[in-house]
Amino acid sequence: VARGGFAGAQALDLPGWRHVYSGKVRDLYEPADAAPGESETLLVVASDRISAYDHVLEPPIPDKGAVLTQLSLWWFERLAEGEDAVAHHVVSTDVPEAVAGRAMVVKRLAMHPIECIARGYVTGSGLAEYREHGTVTGIPLPEGLVDGSRLEPAVFTPSAKAEVGEHDENITYEQTVERVGEDVAAALRDATLAVYTRAEAIAREAGIILADTKVEFGVDPTGELVLGDEVLTPDSSRFWDAEDYEPGRAQASFDKQFVRDWLTSPASGWDKASGEAPPSLPADVVEKTRARYVEAYERLTGRTFVAPGA
Ligand code: ATP
Ligand code: MG
Repeated sequence: VARGGFAGAQALDLPGWRHVYSGKVRDLYEPADAAPGESETLLVVASDRISAYDHVLEPPIPDKGAVLTQLSLWWFERLAEGEDAVAHHVVSTDVPEAVAGRAMVVKRLAMHPIECIARGYVTGSGLAEYREHGTVTGIPLPEGLVDGSRLEPAVFTPSAKAEVGEHDENITYEQTVERVGEDVAAALRDATLAVYTRAEAIAREAGIILADTKVEFGVDPTGELVLGDEVLTPDSSRFWDAEDYEPGRAQASFDKQFVRDWLTSPASGWDKASGEAPPSLPADVVEKTRARYVEAYERLTGRTFVAPGA
């Protein structure tokens, strides 16, 4: 919890909680009775804001915050089961009425400044680097891969967390070691690949290919590495329809790709390189994005999404 933050966020008046920080999507609060910066817990509220290409877009996507929160909670539980259980930051879902369904109380962690990405398929920025250099974050890949080719085994492709308004930057494993040290870098890599491998298998049973995902880890007061933030959501992951999968072209997806595609299409009239704010999303793009997020949740969990307060 540090650095700039997203200035456009509207902090809520939540009884018992004091606003401390807003990222592009989430707003963080600490218990009002704790000294600033010293609480053991935080309240993480997922807003309906959507970001793409490092811009927060207008308008928000209805129910997105609830979908992200409910899906993350489902995954945190799955990942905490069994032999290779992963420790996570969730403490409870006992949250103020005003943010019911889209917030969780978590253990406050000292976050590592690394976006921990695992890729089991090559696409997006990974494909761009591969086409130029034959590598992804410096890792050499086999020849002849196309958009959507599977990578076996999956690779750890970290990026450095940037200040608000700056682009996260892909970095090599060696640069990760320079930032966090050898032991932490190895622990982040192993834990990220373990999360990906377990989640990829769970998603596959639901007919969804988990092409890649981003997780964030922090350290708790005992020194343990703990999974924080959100996990395995359509914001942080690429989810493809397994039925429709065919390497060599873009894949049908249940994630943010739909919004990125609209933004970079002639229909938006936006030039990504211009540095200007993107145009507002048309109503049908908002509605279709909402539908994709809800479908990802429903397919993966087998549950019906119920909007908070509905
Ligand atoms: P930035 O991380 O630069 O603010 P962002 O726009 O991605 O970027 P959000 O994801 O909207 O930010 O906000 C969530 C913030 O909360 C992130 O900074 C994340 O690292 C932090 N965070 C998540 N879980 C915890 C935790 N348990 N303890 C402390 N900080 C956390
Ligand atoms: Mg984030």
